[in-house]
Amino acid sequence: MKVFKFGGASVKDAAGLQNVASILKRFQDEQLVIIVSAMGKNTNALEAVLASHAKQDGKAQELYDAIKESHYDLCRALFDANDEVFSAVNDTFVEGEWVLEEAPSDNYDYMYDQLVSVGELVSSKILAAYLNKASLKTQWLDARDVVATDNTYREGWVIWDKTKANAQRIVPPMLAQGGFVVTQGFIGSTSENFTTTLGREGSDYSASIFSHCLDAESMSIWKDVPGVLNADPRLFEHVIKLDRISYREAIEMTYYGASVIHPKTIKPLQNKNIPLYVKSFIDPDGVGTEISSDNEETYPPIIVVEKNQALLHISTLDYSFVAEHHMARLFGKAADLRLFVNMMQNTAISFTICVPNIPDRLQKFIEDVSDEFKVKMESGLELLTIRHYNEETIANLKKGKMVLFEERIRNTLQMVVRNIPAVERREVDIAGSKAS
Ligand code: ASP
Ligand code: MG
Repeated sequence: MKVFKFGGASVKDAAGLQNVASILKRFQDEQLVIIVSAMGKNTNALEAVLASHAKQDGKAQELYDAIKESHYDLCRALFDANDEVFSAVNDTFVEGEWVLEEAPSDNYDYMYDQLVSVGELVSSKILAAYLNKASLKTQWLDARDVVATDNTYREGWVIWDKTKANAQRIVPPMLAQGGFVVTQGFIGSTSENFTTTLGREGSDYSASIFSHCLDAESMSIWKDVPGVLNADPRLFEHVIKLDRISYREAIEMTYYGASVIHPKTIKPLQNKNIPLYVKSFIDPDGVGTEISSDNEETYPPIIVVEKNQALLHISTLDYSFVAEHHMARLFGKAADLRLFVNMMQNTAISFTICVPNIPDRLQKFIEDVSDEFKVKMESGLELLTIRHYNEETIANLKKGKMVLFEERIRNTLQMVVRNIPAVERREVDIAGSKAS
């Protein structure tokens, strides 16, 4: 069996769903588990509903109704007025409404998961119904019956043995009946049957969980790009598609912010040597990118830009040297607050780290260590990571930038930069990146 994942952009409207069905027609005779995200930008829209509910600004219901209406519009475009899909979708939206009926509690993350999961539940119901209507026999599966997590809401940790047992018990009998299985990305459930989510953009990870647990032959992610590119085409000219990359390269790229695949996706696949194909839903005949075992490859420069970074310059209050016990404390704190340290460097009495700028967490960090350390923060920065760099690419990337922090380790160069506003990134030529 194979696992396919379709993201929100592929099912954002009626034409998108029709296109997905036409792609799946090509695989009629295969055993497929299909993972789908919420349609379009509905996860953001549901987040806005919850934020409004938390503020009690009186707009939550109106925002929620707009989401409902857009789904019903989509259903009206694809189904007859009396199709069962309308009540299936409505039932799911009603469950979301129960969340909004509760007073906002300090358990925001818990409420988030109960409400925001509605996006995937409705998209998967609509997709399953539409495939059946298009004569592609499909069963709907509740991913929460399979993906077991702890109760870290908004970032559920998968309980692997339980998830594997669930997957192996539930999915093969469904596939044996013939036809596809459609389920949700992004969601799981706790042992008390509360819904959890796996972190934003987590549907790729869901597909990888299913692939791992079911020993899939391969996994494919269908995207609006031709495959994995060596830089973000929205930021750079002359990008090139990589036909094949290793798991290792994919992990390094995604860890530093390449948004093409969720960073947690690779490990479960690598551990079972399951190849991952990144394919275009716009050009399904295109070859895409294959991500598979770690053969030595030669790569062009690969550039990853992570925006919204901050530098924390941390120094000891009493001018004592920054010693290992200081670092142990600082890293312990960073781990507790889930600050992801992207780069670091120390001098005699100071220590600098580059972290994503998540204001509430950084503020807490600064307060919590203030008894021993003074922390100065610089924000509005970008982290550039260049794998397989050459001097020409580096020189080009530095144009229009003030480099605050730079480090080279083997084939990876990283720099934290501030943009000098007059220079447009798109004018930068990364042609030094042409594959040899
Ligand atoms: N719908 C979720 C999100 O937008 C999960 C995903 O699309 O991967 O974050
Ligand atoms: Mg997505």
